[in-house]
Amino acid sequence: MATKKVEIIASPKPAHFVGDGFRVHNFIPGVRGLDMKRMDPFIMLDYNSKFHFNGSETPRGVGVHPHRGFETVTIAYQGKVEHHDSAGGGGIIGEGDVQWMTAAKGVLHKEYHETEWSRKGGIFQMVQLWVNLPAKDKMSKPKYQAIKNFDMQRADLGENGFVEIIAGEYHGKAGPASTFSPVHMMNAKLKKGGKADFSFPAHFNTAALVIEGSIIINGGEKAPTDHFVLFKNEGETFSIEASEDSVVLIISGEPLNEPIYPHGPFVMNSREEIIQAFEDFNTGKFGYLED
Ligand code: MN
Repeated sequence: MATKKVEIIASPKPAHFVGDGFRVHNFIPGVRGLDMKRMDPFIMLDYNSKFHFNGSETPRGVGVHPHRGFETVTIAYQGKVEHHDSAGGGGIIGEGDVQWMTAAKGVLHKEYHETEWSRKGGIFQMVQLWVNLPAKDKMSKPKYQAIKNFDMQRADLGENGFVEIIAGEYHGKAGPASTFSPVHMMNAKLKKGGKADFSFPAHFNTAALVIEGSIIINGGEKAPTDHFVLFKNEGETFSIEASEDSVVLIISGEPLNEPIYPHGPFVMNSREEIIQAFEDFNTGKFGYLED
């Protein structure tokens, strides 16, 4: 199998706030040449790099807002988030946990720092991904998967460290998340000098985000902390080696190759469907959620 080469190693752009609780660098779309289609089915990636929030009696976050047509996946590295949606889904995710919300035909939700955590404050670090849904599933029933860290299988790499699988598979071990199209998502937790090899079909859109530490890719290129690595759609296998203790988020997915028509919190396949989404939202079809 051929080597999957690096296309871009991108440094984080200046951060902006989403609500008052998430200070994020946007990588998808946002990195030069990387539009919503380039990493299809991953249409958005916001990264809250390590940021210290002072204690607050009023939890910071984002108030009630709608989504339709895709899934939001939140991966907590540090800090705690509390989530509620109009489909009855909700819960608290802490260090190492993942929240996988399928908005599908529409939910209202709100995302806040968890009350107790907010009171104390501390270092907060999180990733939010938007995974697009195939056209045939965009109007399916909303659903919510709370994935605790202990629900994830680990592929043990001995002295090198291990890989924790959120979705898809690695070394024959499967992640707990159910997905609508082929998606692989995992955290490689490597010790200094530890190595891991990955293999995904050439046409799968593939990227890595260095959450902690720094890595060398394919024995050559360096990616420091908070950098995003986009791979070419050629070749299948790549390797990473940790220059220090490192955590690396790896994502790879089969492109849906369907039209992407985004508008704010809605991502559909056509303008007509976006107009419909606004109409349904304005007439209360997304349900009700107290602010
Ligand atoms: Mn949201």
